[in-house]
Amino acid sequence: MDGLTALRREVGEFLSEARSAGAFTPRCSGWMAFDADFSRSCGERGYIGMTWPRRYGGQERSAIERYVVVEEMLAAGAPVGAHWIADRQSGPQILNNGSEELKRELLPRIARGEVFFAIGMSEPDAGSDLSNIRSRARKTEGGWRLDGRKIWMTNGHRAHYLIGLFRTGPAEAGSRHAGMTQFIVDLSAPGIERRPIEDMIGEKDFTEVVLDEVFVPDHYVLGMPGDGWRLVMAELAYERSGPERFLSVFPLLNEAVDLLRGSATEVERRGIGRIVAHLATLREMSISIAARLARGELPSTEAALVKDLGNALEREIPEVLRGFARQPPRHGGDDYSQRLGDAILAAPSFTLRGGTPEILRGIIARELGLR
Ligand SMILES: Cc1cc2nc3c(=O)[nH]c(=O)nc-3n(C[C@H](O)[C@H](O)[C@H](O)COP(=O)(O)OP(=O)(O)OC[C@H]3O[C@@H](n4cnc5c(N)ncnc54)[C@H](O)[C@@H]3O)c2cc1C
Repeated sequence: MDGLTALRREVGEFLSEARSAGAFTPRCSGWMAFDADFSRSCGERGYIGMTWPRRYGGQERSAIERYVVVEEMLAAGAPVGAHWIADRQSGPQILNNGSEELKRELLPRIARGEVFFAIGMSEPDAGSDLSNIRSRARKTEGGWRLDGRKIWMTNGHRAHYLIGLFRTGPAEAGSRHAGMTQFIVDLSAPGIERRPIEDMIGEKDFTEVVLDEVFVPDHYVLGMPGDGWRLVMAELAYERSGPERFLSVFPLLNEAVDLLRGSATEVERRGIGRIVAHLATLREMSISIAARLARGELPSTEAALVKDLGNALEREIPEVLRGFARQPPRHGGDDYSQRLGDAILAAPSFTLRGGTPEILRGIIARELGLR
């Protein structure tokens, strides 16, 4: 057995033990489900910050080993949402752009599953057009003062920190992307108000954060002041290319296959086969991006492509399964038809979070020289 197969088996055993012990019930979009205890148990097993240097709490494992772990977790519908953002993008941002002091302060705590992060990009008037952000930071003695509003922050009312994009200077003629900086913000700092927002299913998984004169010390600046746009683009490449962009409803698909086994019609077999073929192709694309990110490259266009194709498929899956369902989907509760109902309600958000199809296709078209 090779190392990756052994790792896959090890993670599978961890997950089936956790499931039998009642630590979780499989669910769709497990990467948004916040469970601090589960995250701590992942930290204890070395499943967070796997590729980071040991001196910062990491395991110095390869990108493909990390891929195996996150893929198994998503496929099992495990509640990995508490540590997901820090493991996927905030930790790598700190590793690549933070001061030594910051790395030593935060990375080991992230890797232990003790400290959780949120993404502070979107604002009420700046979602797709991030360069339109209004939240500002001004220099003060020993640090910065932050003012403004961030919205739609996944688990923002539960996380300890956010990495946010703030305007620190004017846009320059010819570049709307100048004059922005990324900061780490301690969400328990004075001047912060957090308001959870309820979604269509009735869950409160995202948040509006209002910042009023919030102090952030100098060493919480990522990269150089004014270099925030470049950093945000790098962060989005991590955010857009992973297997969560096509595995959100995989646990439901698994369940549907089990339910149809032995009684599936030809149409149902073909429908499931088509979805699985698409998933296999997306997986190959996503793995190749993980390898490029690990080499320090910035495959933003390829990441946009995986997200766009992946989201289109994961939006389609609940609709296909609706057509195969023996009972009509319902909302809320804990049987298959209710989980299907919730997936149908959640599906429109798949193409919104992390960037809409129009924006992703714009990025792809620009790279192809079409605009
Ligand atoms: C479940 C969920 C979780 C999220 N989590 C986070 C998070 O953790 N952190 C965070 O910062 N944000 C988060 N978001 C916000 C998300 O990134 C934004 O919703 C998204 O970028 C779209 O921005 P918007 O909502 O302001 O829509 P808008 O930008 O107002 O867009 C509205 C519509 O106009 C279209 N459009 C806009 N500009 C163009 C254009 N130039 N050309 C063609 N069409 C265009 C869009 O495609 C869209 O259909 C989350 C959103 C969801 C749904």
